[in-house]
Amino acid sequence: MRQNIFEKIDRGERLARDEIVALLNLADAAEREALYQKAYAIKRQRVGTTVYFRGIIEFSNYCVKDCFYCGIRKSNPHVERYQMTLDEIVNVALWAHQRQYGSIVLQSGERSDPAFADFIEQALLRIRDGSGGELGITLSLGEQSDETYQRWFDAGAHRYLLRIETSNPELYAKLHPADHSFERRRACLDSLRQIGYQVGTGVMIGLPFQTTEHLADDILFFQQQDIDMIGMGPYLPHHDTPLAAHVAAAPDFEERQLAAGLNMIAVARIVLQDVNIAATTALQALRHNGRELGLLAGANIIMPNLTDTQYRAAYQLYQNKPCLDENATMCQACLEGRIALIGETVGYGKRGDSPHFAARS
Ligand code: SAH
Ligand code: SF4
Repeated sequence: MRQNIFEKIDRGERLARDEIVALLNLADAAEREALYQKAYAIKRQRVGTTVYFRGIIEFSNYCVKDCFYCGIRKSNPHVERYQMTLDEIVNVALWAHQRQYGSIVLQSGERSDPAFADFIEQALLRIRDGSGGELGITLSLGEQSDETYQRWFDAGAHRYLLRIETSNPELYAKLHPADHSFERRRACLDSLRQIGYQVGTGVMIGLPFQTTEHLADDILFFQQQDIDMIGMGPYLPHHDTPLAAHVAAAPDFEERQLAAGLNMIAVARIVLQDVNIAATTALQALRHNGRELGLLAGANIIMPNLTDTQYRAAYQLYQNKPCLDENATMCQACLEGRIALIGETVGYGKRGDSPHFAARS
């Protein structure tokens, strides 16, 4: 079956759901390598081998939500809560601009109070002014009203990352309290698109209760929703969360999560072709060179951490977050070396917008 599917990919034919499932299930090392090479060839042809940076600023861990998997959920009393000041955020963003990072991401726990909307608007306006409008700005601030999304767009944000977490409503319900709504989250993706954002979404891979069929449906969901950017990564348990109790202990847990994450990147590249796909930090948490493996499996975006080291330990969505004590300058040097080692280059000074977005607008 595998050979037939690979030939179908070479002919540029659309894959059926059971073929996507079969690719995601590949476990043999040589077969997986062949899958990644197919995905890499498509990446080279459709988006190129320049890696674009999105420097991520995790500016606050206050959150009003209670997702069962997340270390900074509001019911976790063991987290020291912090919020960077406006000046701190703007300074880090402009540092990134000076260092030729084409784009940044502002990420935090979710808040929807008016003071928060104002705060973000102020940050966006100052970053836009300070960078002469050059710096690409992605927001990853959860579910908001249409009005808030519009205000932030008008203030200079032009991409938004809102993971659907899973495209299966029943699985979504198992991962969240009853007042967290799958439909509402899905509707947010529509609003973002309508306002004009480049829309990013994604899922966690290897969750308790999740099947390969769920993951295949996630990729088809990205396709149906005409998504521009994908940010997805392996699920990593956090001991202070309810979901961790459902993780079956296995000596090869990390290896399996890593393989599942890489297979998912490769198949997403093959099916979605010209979207931007991030090699996320969760891959690096599983293996020191996990992000490079992600690039070799079809990803083309990396999100170097710009958060000041004094805050990093308090922003742990999952355990074993890497590089807790490395500052942004060290991260940049380390990454540049790693990317050169796999024969790719960094797109310094460029935004690296999603070619898929350019094609649809
Ligand atoms: N509060 C915002 C953004 C911060 S959370 C939001 O939820 O959209 C960003 C992402 O971290 C989430 O979308 C989720 O997919 C991921 N995440 C949370 N806990 C995780 C865990 N234990 N393992 C892997 N990813 C996790
Ligand atoms: Fe809050 Fe996002 Fe974590 Fe959910 S995933 S608890 S919304 S920070």
